[in-house]
Amino acid sequence: MAGAAALLTAGALHLPARAEDKSSPDAQNAILPAEALKRLKEGNARYTANEPNERDFSATRAARAEAQFPVAAIVSCSDSRVVPDLVFDQSPGDLFVVRLAGNIVDNDAYASLEYAVKFLGAPLILVLGHSNCGAVAAAIKVVMERAELPGHLPGLIKAIEPAVIAAHGRHPSDMLAAVIEENVLHGMKEMRKDSSIIAEAFEAKTIDIAGGVYDIATGKVRLLS
Ligand SMILES: [Zn+2]
Repeated sequence: MAGAAALLTAGALHLPARAEDKSSPDAQNAILPAEALKRLKEGNARYTANEPNERDFSATRAARAEAQFPVAAIVSCSDSRVVPDLVFDQSPGDLFVVRLAGNIVDNDAYASLEYAVKFLGAPLILVLGHSNCGAVAAAIKVVMERAELPGHLPGLIKAIEPAVIAAHGRHPSDMLAAVIEENVLHGMKEMRKDSSIIAEAFEAKTIDIAGGVYDIATGKVRLLS
């Protein structure tokens, strides 16, 4: 693993290592986690108001070809209605996005997040659930009604089951909304147990881990915690 890590350092693949970021105060992600979260909140407010920033994509293309300095890593559902870069009104190079249905995090997703934190210097991980999530609805059917799903779907749904059980114990009036929220909180908590890289960065306050639920109808992200 040490060899693999060495391959990912700046020299081998021209990737910025964490230490290099710190010595580059001009990097857009050399900011505190709270500042990164504020940037996302402000972006979502623009998106909700339908007043996104004007962008000249070609103007910054050359700089982006050299390196990336994402201000946040986003864990989102694959749902076609949830587009983090638009939801937070950010530009190419701003968000490192990991998307799987149900905003679950499997081993490869963890590897992506670890890369974003350790090698790209992202100061924030945000787990983003969303209203009316089909993957979460399916997980509820599997747990509550013993529904059976084909193909690889059972494996994905299994990752959401703890959230179904936790929400069910609270007897919510809106089960789907409760599980969607619980699934975000579960994801935030699990990544501190399952990834030593994320846990260490979190303990060192190098990164923060936030969670939110995106309302498809209004465009608004409600932050949890
Ligand atoms: Zn979804």
